[in-house]
Amino acid sequence: MRAVGLGLLILSLLGVWGTSQTTPITIVAIDAGHGGDDTGSIGIDNLFEKDIVLKIAHLIALEAVSFPHIKITLTRHEDRYLSPKERIQNAQGAQLCISLHLDFSYDPWMHGITILMPTKASQATQALAEALRHSILATTKGLSWKTKTAHLWLRRLNIPAVQINLGFITNPEEARKLNQLPYQKRLAHAILQGIDDFLRSQF
Ligand SMILES: [Zn+2]
Repeated sequence: MRAVGLGLLILSLLGVWGTSQTTPITIVAIDAGHGGDDTGSIGIDNLFEKDIVLKIAHLIALEAVSFPHIKITLTRHEDRYLSPKERIQNAQGAQLCISLHLDFSYDPWMHGITILMPTKASQATQALAEALRHSILATTKGLSWKTKTAHLWLRRLNIPAVQINLGFITNPEEARKLNQLPYQKRLAHAILQGIDDFLRSQF
C-alpha cells in the first residue's frame, strides 16, 4: 500500500510539474488611462475618469490570483500623468495590453461599452477584442455595444492590444454603477475572463 501511495504521490507531483511546464505565463499590461493633471473626462457627481479606471486596473491585478497563468503588470499604479512614451516603456515585456478608459457625451442618455482597436489591427488583436466582447457582454447585458478602430499609441507596442471604454461617465445610471465596487469587480473579472478565453483559443 505504501508503494502504491508513493507511486500516486510521484504521479501527482509529475502532474503538477507537467501542468506548470505546459501552461505558459502570459504577462498582460493593464493601462489605466490619464492620471495626475490629466483627469480624463469629468462626469456626474464630479467623478474623474482617471480615478475609476485606476481602481478597475488595481482590481484586475487583485482578481488575477484566480488566473494563475496570467500575470498583470500596470503601466501606472498611482495618480500620476504618463506620456504615451512612458506607458510604452512600462508595458515592455508584456505579451498583451489592455488600456482602460471611459466615454464622455453631452447627451446624458449615451451609454454603453466600446472596444477600440488600432487601425489595421492584427488577427490576434481582433481575436482579443472578440473574446473581451463576449466576456464583457455576459456581465453587462442590456448595454449597447460596438467595436471600432482608432488610431492608438497601442499599435506601437506590436502586441495584441485594445482599448476598452468601459461606459459613459456622463450617463447618470452608468456613472453610478462605475463608481461602485461590485460593478468594478464584475468588470475586472469579465476582462480577465476575456483574456483567459483569448489565451485558450491561441494554444
Ligand atoms: Zn480617456
